[in-house]
Amino acid sequence: MTAQIIDGKATARLLEKELALEAQELQKERALVPGLAVVLVGDDPASRTYVNNKERACKRVGIYSEVHRLPGETSQEEVLALIHRLNHDPAIHGILVQLPLPKHISDKACIQAIKPEKDVDGFHPISAGNLLIGDKGFVPCTPHGILVLLDRLGVDLKGKHAVIVGRSNIVGKPVALLLLSRHATVTICHSRTPDLGLHTRQADVLVVAIGRAEMVTGDMVKPGAVVIDVGVNQLGDKLVGDVHFASAQAVAGAITPVPGGVGPMTIGMLMKNTIQAARWA
Ligand code: NDP
Repeated sequence: MTAQIIDGKATARLLEKELALEAQELQKERALVPGLAVVLVGDDPASRTYVNNKERACKRVGIYSEVHRLPGETSQEEVLALIHRLNHDPAIHGILVQLPLPKHISDKACIQAIKPEKDVDGFHPISAGNLLIGDKGFVPCTPHGILVLLDRLGVDLKGKHAVIVGRSNIVGKPVALLLLSRHATVTICHSRTPDLGLHTRQADVLVVAIGRAEMVTGDMVKPGAVVIDVGVNQLGDKLVGDVHFASAQAVAGAITPVPGGVGPMTIGMLMKNTIQAARWA
């Protein structure tokens, strides 16, 4: 079997077109332009690229964006003061603090300083709590993007066995909650799980978010499974996922590539959350 490739880039572009129409509607009906503020501290090259990509996506969708590029030595107080100002800026509906922050600034303090109504990354404890209890709120972008990819692929999650490798607050745990909310039977694996393959081989839907290049190989995949590879790892001069693509593709029913799978959907969902924030404002 050769797996169908799940084209996240094409799905994200389609989503952006739909969102551009929504943004136009908001402008026509409520004279409202959704606004996103991104706070970037320091000059981490990967973060700079992510922020530039977000800025470009805002332009394509018709979202007003401003990027606050602050030097690496900016104090935590200064970052918090900026967040406070953005919380009260009526032109800004969504605030995103690009992680990781320099070591002297607490991620937690900055995330908690964002007004929950503007928490378009979905990392605030209020957003996390809403997701846990199944209430209205912002869903973190990468997990939400994965769910949309599965929906658009036509995967009926009800009663399926979903296995998630990784339990981070930004990917693994929220993915597990989303799949559970769709009535999948969910198993979460992590670094202390013995015999990882025993679990992954049972997955109808396998989501891998570890941060270890090509760790999950084809022999760990159930024939016909849907494999979602969240990992982004630099291996020599190329980007690879956490799944060994060639061997997994030979076994799976469908698989996301890296790059071009989950990554573009993450940005698409940020656009979606920003428009949602403007609607709720
Ligand atoms: P974290 O480092 O926060 O979490 C990694 C998780 O993987 C942890 O739960 C850890 O377990 C688990 N893990 C580590 N080693 C193993 C192992 N040998 N076997 C089983 N589980 C293991 O990473 P993130 O969740 O933030 O990100 C994961 C990957 O996804 C990264 O490559 C990141 O770059 C990528 N990513 C991609 C995004 C995109 O838009 N495409 C967005 C966000 C992340 P434990 O808890 O026990 O330590």
